[in-house]
Amino acid sequence: MNRNNHLKKVKNKKKPWDIVVIGGGASGLGAAVDAASRGYRTLLLEKNDFAKGTSSRSTKLVHGGVRYLQNGDISLVIEALKERGIMRKNAPHLVQDLSFVIPSYDWWNSPFYGIGLKIYDMMAGNLGLGPSTLLDRQETIDLIPNVKKKGLKGGVIYHDGQFDDARMAISLAQTAENHGASLINYCGVTSLVKEGDMITGVTAKDEFSGEEFSISAKVVINATGVFSDQIIQMDQPGSRKLIVPSQGVHIVLDKSFLNGPHAIMVPHTSDGRVLFAVPWNDYVVVGTTDTLIEQTLEEPIALEEEIAFILENAGAYMTTPPTRADVKSVFSGLRPLAAPEDNGRASKEISRHHKVTVSTSGLVSILGGKWTTYRKMSEDLINTAQSVGGLPERACISHSLPIHGYDYNSDWSNPLHVYGTDIEKIHKLDEAGNESLSDQVHLTKNQIVWAVREEMAITVEDVLARRSRALFLNAETTLALAPKVAKIIAEEAGHNQDWIDQQIKEFNALTQNYLLS
Ligand SMILES: Cc1cc2nc3c(=O)[nH]c(=O)nc-3n(C[C@H](O)[C@H](O)[C@H](O)COP(=O)(O)OP(=O)(O)OC[C@H]3O[C@@H](n4cnc5c(N)ncnc54)[C@H](O)[C@@H]3O)c2cc1C
Repeated sequence: MNRNNHLKKVKNKKKPWDIVVIGGGASGLGAAVDAASRGYRTLLLEKNDFAKGTSSRSTKLVHGGVRYLQNGDISLVIEALKERGIMRKNAPHLVQDLSFVIPSYDWWNSPFYGIGLKIYDMMAGNLGLGPSTLLDRQETIDLIPNVKKKGLKGGVIYHDGQFDDARMAISLAQTAENHGASLINYCGVTSLVKEGDMITGVTAKDEFSGEEFSISAKVVINATGVFSDQIIQMDQPGSRKLIVPSQGVHIVLDKSFLNGPHAIMVPHTSDGRVLFAVPWNDYVVVGTTDTLIEQTLEEPIALEEEIAFILENAGAYMTTPPTRADVKSVFSGLRPLAAPEDNGRASKEISRHHKVTVSTSGLVSILGGKWTTYRKMSEDLINTAQSVGGLPERACISHSLPIHGYDYNSDWSNPLHVYGTDIEKIHKLDEAGNESLSDQVHLTKNQIVWAVREEMAITVEDVLARRSRALFLNAETTLALAPKVAKIIAEEAGHNQDWIDQQIKEFNALTQNYLLS
């Protein structure tokens, strides 16, 4: 993917695009894949980097949502379980099965959750990842060696999916490009262009040069997550707010806190939600929270009470409860929940179903949803967009569309497995460039060069936060790596020392949000 080539193409294009998608997170990238694979001329514009928003900050679960089952949201669970199976089938290099253990400290808990999880298994049908089973005390300890043993009666094991969200986003961008779409990061939409009352395009701004240009389109899609209301206001100032942003925080711990390949699911936290401790890339991701928030920041900040809540609720299930000093990284994201008609509901009660809306001027917006259901959301979105834009009707093919890098024989013990069939090409870039630059997070010179050359990585943050996941895993180690990474990017892209200095300064400032002490 080459940003300059795409920029040139956009500026030189005289004919309108069939579809312009605003936003490069799960919703927008999924839409670009769906639209391009139906043969529509598609352009996606992202103001920051792909997946800079919520889509790199999830719990990394591809799941039906056991919690939604508890809430009785059966249709959402059935839809998500189906999509879980499709995502696993189309991106086997990015989505894996993971076992979750619910430890139980009361004799009635295991049968209670066991029945619920049998229903969950049945709902997945032949797309199930494995049957749930009751565990006795010793079996629970065998699976989670560092589970709190005092009072432990037994547990339940069930299966869901796990993925790398930002890597999935990059792979979707590549898939869309493979099908003919153009995608540009660091190119935000600043206004909508109208003829009469109808939208006929957008004005976009190259965030590096500051240059603004107009782009015409038969239909414009707003897929900007928690920022959706900003685009809706550009269209119809004074409209009712359609998004309720809810913050979720995760902390990342050393893998010894679980000491095994299985996750813990805490079925009932002190605020009546669920909490996960999930092994991920040699660390453990623990979260999350659900806090209604007023300000939609691009870099949301974890609240002290959210960190305390996670430490306390996860600690109750671990032999050694974690403390602040154990936190390797902390990250927060904002859920773009679709506002219910009756305001005033707690965010944990707001449905995670998605909504597609169309304004009277033809702006098509996607609101709410989950990463797991991104494909179905995109299908619904493009079905609507094709009629709004008067495009020739074409069937969706994304349910059986391999995602870039598709490799059914992925070796998950290889830290590069997320690249799928690109691994060989990365290895071959430079024999000497395959050694990791750090013992704490896996990152090679070849990965950095590949990110710049092939994955539209521009900044140090792009490489360390989303092309690799170093910042999300271990913020202190990553901070120390930044100067080396800046130098490698500068050599590859032809930047000078001023660029390197500025990048290191900006990355240092950003990293403070991911460090606890
Ligand atoms: C804490 C947390 C945990 C979660 N865990 C899970 C999970 O485990 N599994 C799951 O399935 N789902 C999970 N989700 C939900 C999932 O992450 C989100 O539903 C999904 O990522 C939202 O994607 P999006 O594309 O709608 O929004 P975003 O990813 O935020 O993308 C919107 C993009 O629009 C861009 N943008 C904004 N304004 C403009 C503009 N003017 N021009 C161009 N671009 C613009 C932004 O920069 C951003 O990149 C979780 C969510 C949170 C918050």
